[in-house]
Amino acid sequence: MFKKVFAVMLALLLGMSVFSCNTEPAATTDKPTEAPSDAPTEATEEPTEAPTEAPTEAPTEAPTEPATTEAGTVYAGMDSGIVRDGTPKKYICLCFDDTTKQDLKIIEMCKKYNYYDVTFFTSTGLYGADWTAGVGVSHVRFTKKEMQSGIYDGFDLAVHTYHHYPLDQYEKTPKTVISEVTKDQKNIYALTGVYPVVMAWPGGDPNVTRGLMKIVAENTSVGLGRGTTSTHKFDLPKEMLWLQPTAEISEATVFSDLQRFLDAECTEDMLFFCWGHGYELDIYNSYGKLENLIKTIAEAEGVERVTVSEFYQLFKNEIPAYIPED
Ligand SMILES: [Zn+2]
Repeated sequence: MFKKVFAVMLALLLGMSVFSCNTEPAATTDKPTEAPSDAPTEATEEPTEAPTEAPTEAPTEAPTEPATTEAGTVYAGMDSGIVRDGTPKKYICLCFDDTTKQDLKIIEMCKKYNYYDVTFFTSTGLYGADWTAGVGVSHVRFTKKEMQSGIYDGFDLAVHTYHHYPLDQYEKTPKTVISEVTKDQKNIYALTGVYPVVMAWPGGDPNVTRGLMKIVAENTSVGLGRGTTSTHKFDLPKEMLWLQPTAEISEATVFSDLQRFLDAECTEDMLFFCWGHGYELDIYNSYGKLENLIKTIAEAEGVERVTVSEFYQLFKNEIPAYIPED
């Protein structure tokens, strides 16, 4: 135990990211200003266990997702109501991974400020999974029944892949990658009636490869994949399928990044993209901090709050899925 505490404190002093969702967020480079005071001391250990039910062979089920032109299918993010008329705008995305039970508090905060332009990334093959032992702080996903009860109604529900496997292990078996993405899409569609077209890479940047981007681009209708390396910048992404966020909710710089964004002169389209996990709120006891962030964004003037799906739909014709390597 003391070794763990020492390791955590050392990591914090060194400014390392000490928590993760599996292995994400991987590249939090900023030292949190406040070390978790009364957070569970084991909360900061990297969960080392992979999902126990890793497939030993590729699933045989072929993807049967609807074509993008299929009549009657409602695709996520089409109804932002935003018209891109050449006027530069400031876009803000906020999203959370894993759909664990801490999301109830996040949703409560969002509703309090009437802020529904928020995306939650879910793994529908992990209904009810409890990773608390690996993560060290409560990490319990909603059951199917709970998901069907409308917890996320009004919000954007998107793909975090079916089992949350580290997909780089399956680059040589594209069928598995395709199945992991499309099964999640289909299940979310069954749940919400809206077909998701964006994802967050499971495990974050350590488990993303350019080969995976190509597999997803060529075989699925998912057109955006979020990574985990904070840029602290407001440029639009160069590639949709490895979009790097501006900031992470537990970073010490998240508020200063947001303030710089809000204060900046808008001469071209800008993006503030912030992500996190509900369980981080338990690690850092940072519910108040998140509420302040949500309130600040919800009340900000001169910005366009969009879901990740809406951002994708607005820019999919301008930002390539990926730039092929020479
Ligand atoms: Zn995750």
